[in-house]
Amino acid sequence: MSQTVEGSSRQTATASETLIEVENLKKYYGDSGLLAEPPVKAVDDVSFDIKRGETFGLVGESGSGKSTLGRTLLQLETATEGTVSFAGTDITELQGKDLKEWRRNAQMVFQDPESSLNDRMTVGEIIREPLEAHNWGNKKERRERVMDLLSEVGLQEEHYFRYPHQFSGGQRQRIGIARSLALEPEFVVLDEPVSALDVSVQAKIITLLEDLQEEFDLTYLFIAHDLSVVRHICDRVAVMYLGKIMELGETESLYENPENPYTRALLSAIPRPDPTATRARITLPGTPPSPRDPPKGCQFSTRCPAKIYPAEYDDLPNEVWDGLERFREIVRERSRLSLSTKDRVARQLGMFSKYDDIDEAVNDFFGDIDVPSDVDEHIDAAVEMIKDGHPGDAREYLLDEFGSICDHERPAFTSVGDDRQSYCHRHVDDYEDVDTVLDRRVYGE
Ligand code: SF4
Repeated sequence: MSQTVEGSSRQTATASETLIEVENLKKYYGDSGLLAEPPVKAVDDVSFDIKRGETFGLVGESGSGKSTLGRTLLQLETATEGTVSFAGTDITELQGKDLKEWRRNAQMVFQDPESSLNDRMTVGEIIREPLEAHNWGNKKERRERVMDLLSEVGLQEEHYFRYPHQFSGGQRQRIGIARSLALEPEFVVLDEPVSALDVSVQAKIITLLEDLQEEFDLTYLFIAHDLSVVRHICDRVAVMYLGKIMELGETESLYENPENPYTRALLSAIPRPDPTATRARITLPGTPPSPRDPPKGCQFSTRCPAKIYPAEYDDLPNEVWDGLERFREIVRERSRLSLSTKDRVARQLGMFSKYDDIDEAVNDFFGDIDVPSDVDEHIDAAVEMIKDGHPGDAREYLLDEFGSICDHERPAFTSVGDDRQSYCHRHVDDYEDVDTVLDRRVYGE
């Protein structure tokens, strides 16, 4: 259940009963077999729970795995490993009739109201479809139910015979919401439900979702990349990066005092109402690595502004570290290129040119900065390995020389107070904390 708090329309869970418990959930895509490529690790070992009546937010950049996670919770995707318990039942084990019966309880609202509704069906048929699929009531009762739902979502009875193309984006999303509620579910996954809509329409749909939650005691998983919307509607939030939950906690506390370096970077991109605020945006270098080949250690280690460096190199200037991380990114990509037979013959004949641009890349990353000679030697050694056609060796060489615990070991999901958890090695006493290191490296304090 939920209630409105102090002038804000944000919902607050008043019950602490767990409705959904996710444990060590993985969703990998790809073929198995000897010659198969490594799988895409879309969701990689996540655990959390959702309380009855709350709105649980899932945020992250596109490609972070948040939509896949939502679909796997509903069993629209089959989990590779792990469990999802719904009111105590592991739904990853359900099949056939049991799965179909459970699906009444859990529904989804999709991002794009333009494409998620079948344009050849009337609104009445669209909303009635799940009722018919589950043999709900008789014809008259189904029609009455659809009329009730139209009114619940702010549409009119006369809309029953119209087609989706006759409606605006916001109205189409209302139709999608009505369809998702037809079977009186307890749990609804809202996958970017407002991101395709104009800002003024977004506010109305959010208000509608809040009203419906209160009226029907719904539990929501709210997936979004818009951090402001999540702050407004969610009780708790989980921040995802490359298939992993980086931080999780009560929304206000997490937004006010983010503990994880990735959350810090993500939230720094929200425009601040106070123009005199000194904290600048943290710009992340590079792009997220391929989910087929995520880092062995922390998922964020290739871009993290707070990354732990090996003690002997800790005083290297930031720009040298940035160059090294970008160089290692290029080497990692080269090491994943599979060579054709023609490439291998060309390499034997000394006519192989696939890695010729490596000098150019090194020049781009290090040409304008002072690189200490010992670091330069290691870069040169790696370049030679690449030119000899052994980028995998260069990758390992650079990892041995410049890698740290962030590259080698997955961090633990650590309690950071007030029902908050964060995934970072810096939360143990052996290392400088996140604030101190970001003050020094990013803000120059
Ligand atoms: S474990 Fe290392 S790389 Fe990952 S977030 Fe923490 S400091 Fe950054």
